[in-house]
Amino acid sequence: LFETEPPPWELTVQDDVATAKIVFSEAPFGPYDYRIPDEDRDRVKPGMRVRVPLGRRRQPMTGWCIETHLGQVQRSGKLRDIVEILDEEPLCDAHLVRLVSWISHYYQTPMGQVFDTLIPSSVRANAGTRERTYLTPCTGKSDEKAIDSLPKKQQVALRFLIAAGRPMTASELMVHAECTRGPISALQSKGFLEVAVRREMTTGMPMRWAQGDGEEQQTHVLSSEQTTALQRIDAAIDSGKGKTLLLHGVTGSGKTEVYIKAIEHVVRFGRGAIVMVPEISLTPQTRGRFERRFDSVAVLHSQMTPAERHFQWQRIRRGEVQVVVGPRSAVFAPLPRLGLIVIDEEHDASFKQDTQPRYHARKVAHARAMSLGVPLILGSATPSMESWHATATGHAELITMNDRINQRPMPNVELVDLRVRDDRTRGAISRQLHQAVQETLTENGQVILLLNRRGFATTIQCPSCGHVVACPDCDMPLTHHRDGGKAVCHYCDYTIATPPWCPACRYDGIRYGGLGTQKLEVEVKARFPNAKVARMDSDTMRRPGSHQRVLSSFRSGELNILLGTQMIAKGLDFPNVLLVGVINADSALHFPDFRAAERTFQLVTQVAGRTGRGDRGGRVVVQTFSPEHPAIQAASRHDYLQFANDEMVNRRKFNYPPLGSVARIIIRGIVEEVTEAVAEQLLSRLEAARLALGVEVRLLGPAPPPISKLRGKYRFHILLQATEAAILGNTIRRATDSFTIPDKDDVQYVVDIDPMDM
Ligand code: ADP
Ligand code: ZN
Repeated sequence: LFETEPPPWELTVQDDVATAKIVFSEAPFGPYDYRIPDEDRDRVKPGMRVRVPLGRRRQPMTGWCIETHLGQVQRSGKLRDIVEILDEEPLCDAHLVRLVSWISHYYQTPMGQVFDTLIPSSVRANAGTRERTYLTPCTGKSDEKAIDSLPKKQQVALRFLIAAGRPMTASELMVHAECTRGPISALQSKGFLEVAVRREMTTGMPMRWAQGDGEEQQTHVLSSEQTTALQRIDAAIDSGKGKTLLLHGVTGSGKTEVYIKAIEHVVRFGRGAIVMVPEISLTPQTRGRFERRFDSVAVLHSQMTPAERHFQWQRIRRGEVQVVVGPRSAVFAPLPRLGLIVIDEEHDASFKQDTQPRYHARKVAHARAMSLGVPLILGSATPSMESWHATATGHAELITMNDRINQRPMPNVELVDLRVRDDRTRGAISRQLHQAVQETLTENGQVILLLNRRGFATTIQCPSCGHVVACPDCDMPLTHHRDGGKAVCHYCDYTIATPPWCPACRYDGIRYGGLGTQKLEVEVKARFPNAKVARMDSDTMRRPGSHQRVLSSFRSGELNILLGTQMIAKGLDFPNVLLVGVINADSALHFPDFRAAERTFQLVTQVAGRTGRGDRGGRVVVQTFSPEHPAIQAASRHDYLQFANDEMVNRRKFNYPPLGSVARIIIRGIVEEVTEAVAEQLLSRLEAARLALGVEVRLLGPAPPPISKLRGKYRFHILLQATEAAILGNTIRRATDSFTIPDKDDVQYVVDIDPMDM
């Protein structure tokens, strides 16, 4: 029973009806109108969950109220009634309901599903709470004469409850009045007691992490760069207007200290702040820094129990929390008086969610901050091209901090050209890097070795000259497909037979893909038998707490060498790390993604920032087949400006973001041919929509993405490019509106606006 516009002759007009618009997280998603029963008129509010009949379903469905209306309604037939109200208070205030609506529109996700993302499942499930039944004496019935006529035990119990002057549970009353349940039940059935059900937390918040982690307690005297930065942020806070500020500060320039001072400013006015950091940076160190400086901090992280999460959420909503620190989902923290949003390491890819709604926390934070009129601070040593571009176009204010605290020098970066190898160097580690590790170990310094491996894309690269086989149309490296020996552009589906020798230098030992961390660990242990080595990647870090354990034994000096994936590149601050080695900078550089150079620059810069934190300086050795590549050159000189200028030129050539917008549609199915056929259908609908709207949209594909088969499903994707996201949004909406795929095909598609990993 889908809602459609009824023909006008069937309209009836009803006066003074209270209605609510309800959305659902399953199809059909709504919104549909329901009548609010008269006795509940004051109870139903936007942001609450209700249960309503839907279609022919036997059971009522849970839905979210997004709007209420009182007055005249015009419609055919009878409005169906809301049958149950699930929440006493709205789970979202009006501002957050508007944010849901914005996310739903921008990311093309039904509002019901956005609500389910915004409100944690632990909150929806009331985790860690139980319902308790409280008894109070019924007023009007408790006159002395009536009580005197009751049996003795009932009298005692009732008198006790009246004397107590507060509601009590039956078991409490049984203890105090020294009776069994019998007399209480009797009082209840005779109408002497009123019963109220309340939901309560079963436990308080366990303090699981200790306050402080050694380290400084005192506040710092700000450097002059920090002072200027803070003044500009405070001015934005005081202006009462929404504004984005990009704090571009080299690693160790004291950005966190600036955030803390800005938050103190906000807190003084009785307001709260949200600080987002990449999940991996939610170390006890980070938590400790905020917990020491504010009375009431809520840290959200992935290892919380549902009860803890629910507890924190309630504290935040009640306005008891000054600062919320968490990963991307913290952007939804329901602070009632939000005064500031901070995103640290704003360039980090983890701020983009990779399931529906595929939102970017930066984009959502921006929408939230602007609608509230509060500042958004983006902090990074290597700002995303999006944020950098925003400063150039006047959408964000740029604040720069060029110097490290205490004038510590930036570490020296040495490039090792992997094309020049002598026969004695086998395996992944060059002679130069081997020597550097040896020297560092001798000086009792610690070593971080980074082996970047993203996904399973097998780039085709010549080990002799470093040449990478790429698509002539998109400039993307081609991906080698083992079956059939094909090389495919996964943006536009350009396909050639994989060349048996290097097209540039004719060397016949061309390679596909790279080396794994496990193999590297074996090599490192063999080369440095006396060193204590630990590996950190998604395989070894599966168990909760393992990340923490490795880091603390590295901190304590038990470990000499820490090797791993980009996981180790972020946010760690160990003064005794004197050497960072990047095993192969090219694996990020030649990944088929238009952000590959940006990622490489960020990675090398971030990992370089892990050294030279103490007084003993630090060095960085970067192994690469492409030492002359501008991104690697700029990273080796810590020159963000140079990098950003070069990169902007490249992006402009193909209109890649931030100069234009990109969206992609991923189509997944069990049968390859059927899946591809659906993708082709979608493509022609997109072409038709583009024509009908008269807009310029570049359509690429369908092509196999770098991971063309995932969990038994074939995948294809279609890329869309245009000057603005709104054009892409409208085109996709028009093309997919009423597009249905027969169930028997078993094919699904998802829309990804502003995709981050392509
Ligand atoms: P970033 O976030 O830019 O990498 P941090 O805020 O972590 O930098 O600061 C780096 C180190 O310098 C930290 O140990 C911090 O405690 C310290 N620090 C920050 N500001 C000052 C200051 N004004 N004076 C002295 N030390 C400072
Ligand atoms: Zn191509």
